[in-house]
Amino acid sequence: RRGAARVPDPAAQAGAAPPTHQQERHQVVKKYLQKVKSPPEEDCTICMEPLGGPSGYKGPGVGPVSKAESVGRLTQCGHQYHFQCLVAMYNNGNKDGSLQCPTCKTIYGVKTGNQPAGKMEYHVIPHSLPGHPDCKSIRIIYNIPPGIQGPEHPNPGKPFTARGFPRHCYLPDSEKGRKVLRLLLVAWDRRLIFSVGTSSTTGESDTVIWNEVHHKTEFGSNLTGHGFPDPGHLDNVLEELRAQGITEEDALVEK
Ligand SMILES: [Zn+2]
Ligand SMILES: [Zn+2]
Repeated sequence: RRGAARVPDPAAQAGAAPPTHQQERHQVVKKYLQKVKSPPEEDCTICMEPLGGPSGYKGPGVGPVSKAESVGRLTQCGHQYHFQCLVAMYNNGNKDGSLQCPTCKTIYGVKTGNQPAGKMEYHVIPHSLPGHPDCKSIRIIYNIPPGIQGPEHPNPGKPFTARGFPRHCYLPDSEKGRKVLRLLLVAWDRRLIFSVGTSSTTGESDTVIWNEVHHKTEFGSNLTGHGFPDPGHLDNVLEELRAQGITEEDALVEK
């Protein structure tokens, strides 16, 4: 059972799902997998048990539909896991129809987050950012009010705080800056800009926090390190968005 603790019990968070939900979730995971008849002599990196033996996951929500010995290969990246381990991982996430390979982070389907409800607005301001003297600037305004955590958050039913809103962020109004803006709009729709968790700066828990995509919150100066100039910033943000599964193609489709 050494690996069982690595996969948190989904029933403790969401209540035990009826069998129909279990079957749907198995179907979601199944469509990204090819069945492996003779597994390699490697450990499953989710449960740390050999792929040649049964899944080490012992919690509820995976049993009735598949055998503990079933092993699958993710279709794009080729990484292999116990089928039940992947289902347990899926059950423990947002259950949004997407799956992310825990080894190489390849995203299957469309990844969404747990950003609370709020508003994203932007407009062009007639001033240049340090390092971008040839163009105006884009100001993004995020506003998220405090509220009650939903089932997708760390402590469902408990309130969360929202500090420092509205939060203002800046991009150069250049071709690349506008591209970043388009992708940020997609990220907002997919609830990936903010999350609910523990602030790394204040240590406060159950509060709205930034989620993996860096923003510049200072305009004319760079006292906090979150300002301009920063020549690599736009490329870094594009890379962070790509890691969330968002590319230029997504912006064109959703426009
Ligand atoms: Zn496993
Ligand atoms: Zn992979």
